[in-house]
Amino acid sequence: MNSTDILHSQVVPPQDSYWVQVEEISKAHVSLNYAEQLWLAWYTYMQNDVLATGIMSFVMHEAIYFGRSLPWIIIDLIPYFRRWKIQANKIPTAKEQWQCAALVFLSHFTVELPQIWLFHPTAQYWGLSTTVPFPSVLKMAYQICIFFVMEDAWHYWSHRAMHWGPLYKYIHKIHHQYSAPFGLAAEYASPIEVMCLGIGTVGSPILWCAITKDLHILTMYVWIVFRLFQAIDAHSGYEFPWSLHHFLPFWAGAEHHDEHHERFIGNYASSFRWWDYVMDTESGPEASKRRRERKIAKQRAMKKVQ
Ligand SMILES: [Zn+2]
Ligand SMILES: [Zn+2]
Repeated sequence: MNSTDILHSQVVPPQDSYWVQVEEISKAHVSLNYAEQLWLAWYTYMQNDVLATGIMSFVMHEAIYFGRSLPWIIIDLIPYFRRWKIQANKIPTAKEQWQCAALVFLSHFTVELPQIWLFHPTAQYWGLSTTVPFPSVLKMAYQICIFFVMEDAWHYWSHRAMHWGPLYKYIHKIHHQYSAPFGLAAEYASPIEVMCLGIGTVGSPILWCAITKDLHILTMYVWIVFRLFQAIDAHSGYEFPWSLHHFLPFWAGAEHHDEHHERFIGNYASSFRWWDYVMDTESGPEASKRRRERKIAKQRAMKKVQ
């Protein structure tokens, strides 16, 4: 019996309807905030933590993925926004968007659903907390920042590896079907790729928890929501004057990843620009110019020595 079960059985018995459960929980746990009451009611009502987490994860993933992609689909339909489209001549057609959404949805059911189901036992094995009260916002924020840095490092190296001949040909090529990406295309990829890159998203918090023994499953959810936003926005195809990387110069954003899809080389990282900068794999005309200038300067220096 885990801690959540103890909490369930000791206080409020399971009810027939979720909303009755919420009512009972709110009477018994006045000190909890509304979100915490909803959370506890869900686990109490379900009486099966694996199923409760599995359903919640899957519904959340679908709602966020398609919910976040929807504004980008609408933006693609409005000509006014073309001025900020990075590859302005490549607007995805309705057919392309539809085909992409259908494949992503199918892969969520076949590939990601079993993984999401396995998530709770794995999380519990490594000691993730599912109880209430929730951790503080400050703690969630700093842990999420750490996950962004960890995932970005994993993403850089595994994505770079996927551009190696055979891996590209058999795995990563699918993701590069769209040379001008759009929001929905973020998870348009081979199941092997989804699994491999997913290790960075799910594995980073699990590794953190294995080391520190201090992680709440809600923090993990919020992290995954941010990570989905990051991936979808990076594929949006739009660069606005108010895009995040204008304020945070090391943030990658759509400009960074669009270049990767257009040129098929360089800009391998997901959230930040530092790995591509340090490893000299930046993509685009400016980076090529810098590289050329460096080469010329080196040749000149060599001549001087001779
Ligand atoms: Zn790639
Ligand atoms: Zn991509």
